Amino acid sequence: MTAVLEQIQASLVGLRMPHALESLAPVVRRIERGETDALGAIHELLSGELAFRETRRVGVALTTARLNPPKTLDGFDFAFQPSLDRHRVMALAQLDFIDRAEAVHFLGPPGTGKSHLACALGVAAVKAGRSVYRTTLAELVDSLAAAKRADRLGDKLRHYRRTALLIVDEIGYVSIDPKAANLFFQLVNARYEKGAMILTSNKGFAEWGDMFGDPVMATALLDRLLHHATVVRIEGASYRLREHADLIPEHVRANAPIAPPPPPKRRGRPPKTQELS
Ligand code: ADP
Ligand code: MG
Repeated sequence: MTAVLEQIQASLVGLRMPHALESLAPVVRRIERGETDALGAIHELLSGELAFRETRRVGVALTTARLNPPKTLDGFDFAFQPSLDRHRVMALAQLDFIDRAEAVHFLGPPGTGKSHLACALGVAAVKAGRSVYRTTLAELVDSLAAAKRADRLGDKLRHYRRTALLIVDEIGYVSIDPKAANLFFQLVNARYEKGAMILTSNKGFAEWGDMFGDPVMATALLDRLLHHATVVRIEGASYRLREHADLIPEHVRANAPIAPPPPPKRRGRPPKTQELS
């Protein structure tokens, strides 16, 4: 191996360019065979390294954001959910709502794709280089309550405020006591007009008072969460139950209201795992 090749290798190690280092030998062989020239080789090494780093960055950011396994808008069957305006969702994927620090609400019965769409927008945001964090409301208030007990609520609120997009999934599946609701309110207040949020819920806004056990708190929350907000209602059938349409009562199948449908009657063995949302 020529001395200059060794020096290039040492430089790539020093610059922490593992992908270019690995590609160096094959690229040099291609130069020798006349399949590429010097400019082509430089371009290949650099663009390969860049793509490798970008893939790694997105992988790490998706894990940090808790968006694994990632959902995509390409993987969403809009034909299955005719009440949903595809263009509206695609417009959200332009991510302007993040720049404007606005809230997006996905409302609808279980299985209609709320979490899928929230995650897919989160994935798009991660790819665009924004910081994202996904949590459920239950996990969020638990973590805030733990921080409060440890006298570190301020730190925790600052931590949550820093992400450009906070996804709060599964609002409405569990009731939140007024103390926990107050912690959620503090978080929403800290992020208000500073950071974007996506919220998913199987409950209509009118039910938030009961859900949070405090109508005054719920009103204050909604005041902030509905100011500059996009509300996307999905009124269709559950994608999870699509193969069992015959088991689902007609009133749930068509025009399902924003309330949990009664559980379908099961035939045969029950499924091993039962998801809530
Ligand atoms: P929700 O949060 O509204 O209860 P999810 O987003 O969790 O529903 O959807 C349930 C499952 O069905 C997920 O695996 C999701 O990826 C899938 N899913 C839901 N709607 C669609 C759709 N229209 N096209 C493709 N997959 C879908
Ligand atoms: Mg869900």
